[in-house]
Amino acid sequence: DFLANKIAAGEVVERPASVVKELVENSVDAKSNWIKVDIEEAGLQTIKVTDDGVGIPADQCKNAFLRHATSKITNENDLFHVKTLGFRGEALASIAAVSRLRIQTSTGEEAGTVLELEGGELQSEGHSDARRGTEITVKDLFFNTPARLKYLKTVHTELGHITDIINRMALSHPDIRFELTHNGKRIFQTSGKGDTLQIIAAIYGFSVAKKMIPVRARTMDYEVKGYIAKPEITRASRNYITTVINGRYVRSIGLAKAIANGYHTFLPIGRQPIVVLQIEMDPILIDVNVHPTKLEVRFSKEKELFAAVEQMIKDAFHQETL
Ligand code: ADP
Ligand code: MG
Repeated sequence: DFLANKIAAGEVVERPASVVKELVENSVDAKSNWIKVDIEEAGLQTIKVTDDGVGIPADQCKNAFLRHATSKITNENDLFHVKTLGFRGEALASIAAVSRLRIQTSTGEEAGTVLELEGGELQSEGHSDARRGTEITVKDLFFNTPARLKYLKTVHTELGHITDIINRMALSHPDIRFELTHNGKRIFQTSGKGDTLQIIAAIYGFSVAKKMIPVRARTMDYEVKGYIAKPEITRASRNYITTVINGRYVRSIGLAKAIANGYHTFLPIGRQPIVVLQIEMDPILIDVNVHPTKLEVRFSKEKELFAAVEQMIKDAFHQETL
């Protein structure tokens, strides 16, 4: 149903960065070790995401573009054990509905599939070699929804949103090698060797990375690790606080407050710290099914987590001054 897809697309696909986010999340879910994102004109012209993940079997590829076609949830109960980033089966259908899309994918065990769609309609299908992985190219985003196109900001702004997404993805998955190019020029890359501090250096620069203190905490239900900046380098916004839960970048006002409380009087008024926290917990304690874009999460036993984070940061500065 093309109209329904176009309407639904508006919820998932707000701007080029939303396309990047959804495609990269799929690559992460596909257990990729390497994800390359190539952008032309801030994604308004082309967004290409290439991965070396599990690929889509030939007989399932067309299905992946149907709404609510997801391979990630097999029964209702799975909703409470969500470990993958996607699970609604909406992204591919939504993106295809508002663009010209080409997919080339193979499991590595059989010939690959190539599909071309325009506004969600299949234009052509063919085969490719059996190189494991998936490459999705999205061109002319919003070509058939002019109102949405008009609302987009400058190339500079849109590129900023894309960079933010990739930075956060890299911080959420230090074991995946990320590459980002814009108009053929490489603007970001990580090694994929699990070194969070190296990723912090790639994003914020070496002078910031040098001032980061490693932290770690463990409670009954949570395991927290990451890096917190010495209070001598602060920023004017909360954008430099990255919290990751089970490999998913999330926003939580409660967590941000716990972090601020941890810095306590060390933090000048109106200033925010630079923090990267990776938190692991039993997925049963998370409710990710709050909003389609899944940024804001709620979890049970959050007081336990907030107290641990606050204490962890306080301890870190206490040790520093000894
Ligand atoms: P969801 O991620 O919520 O399942 P999507 O619309 O994003 O829904 O993707 C639909 C399906 O297409 C996924 O469930 C997955 O099976 C398949 N898929 C999409 N992208 C990839 C990829 N890069 N590698 C392997 N499979 C993919
Ligand atoms: Mg998805």
